[in-house]
Amino acid sequence: MRLTERIYLVGGGELGFGMSSDPDCHIYAVETGTGLALVDAGTGLDVELILANLRFDGLDPERLRWLFLTHAHADHAGGAAAFRKRFGVDVIASTEAAAYLRAGDEEKISLPVAKRGGVYPASYSFRACEVAHELRDGETYQAGEVEFRAYTTPGHCSGMLSFLIEDAGRKCLFSGDTVFHGGKILISNIWDCSLTEYAASLRKLAALDVDALLPGHLAIALSGGSRHIRRANDSMERFALPPNIL
Ligand SMILES: [Zn+2]
Repeated sequence: MRLTERIYLVGGGELGFGMSSDPDCHIYAVETGTGLALVDAGTGLDVELILANLRFDGLDPERLRWLFLTHAHADHAGGAAAFRKRFGVDVIASTEAAAYLRAGDEEKISLPVAKRGGVYPASYSFRACEVAHELRDGETYQAGEVEFRAYTTPGHCSGMLSFLIEDAGRKCLFSGDTVFHGGKILISNIWDCSLTEYAASLRKLAALDVDALLPGHLAIALSGGSRHIRRANDSMERFALPPNIL
């Protein structure tokens, strides 16, 4: 589903638009001019559905070159190993997420607790994946004609990145599970969820002037993206909690 000049939505499950496996996050494809970049990979439960969505939009999966991961939770990163094996994509993530991915560390990515909560099938397991490049706060990565700027935004979990790109004059933020349409956030009972870090991350993102807000789940804003971020930040600044998506 084409969203902007360069960005397509090519996957997402029941907290999205029912385009791929139920637990999948939104999966975005970016046309860089010299290949395709994915932002997040989904669970890996059914990669074929995602490839079919790419083809439906006229995008050749053989042109996949990069995979940017917002964080290592299985609904975002579980498919990374499959995309790497099949298309040789370079995986790009934060230093913390890279460690969890390389080790396939199911405890660190809170997979057991999510399985107990019924998010994934009992038989689901996370496949370890090599990471080609680690990004720290403010660093950029040039993918073809598109510069991805990383912002560290922990709070939902450790090792979370948000990515900012410019697309035909429009600033587009891939916000992962940090901030959602309507100023919602995602707090859950996992070891690395931190309200203090969450507040700082929202403050950081609220200072950006963002047109499109492209979160990991639920609705997408193609304009006025900063309104949603500031709504979440305003709640935190008033000592309150923004609404949670779950
Ligand atoms: Zn998550």
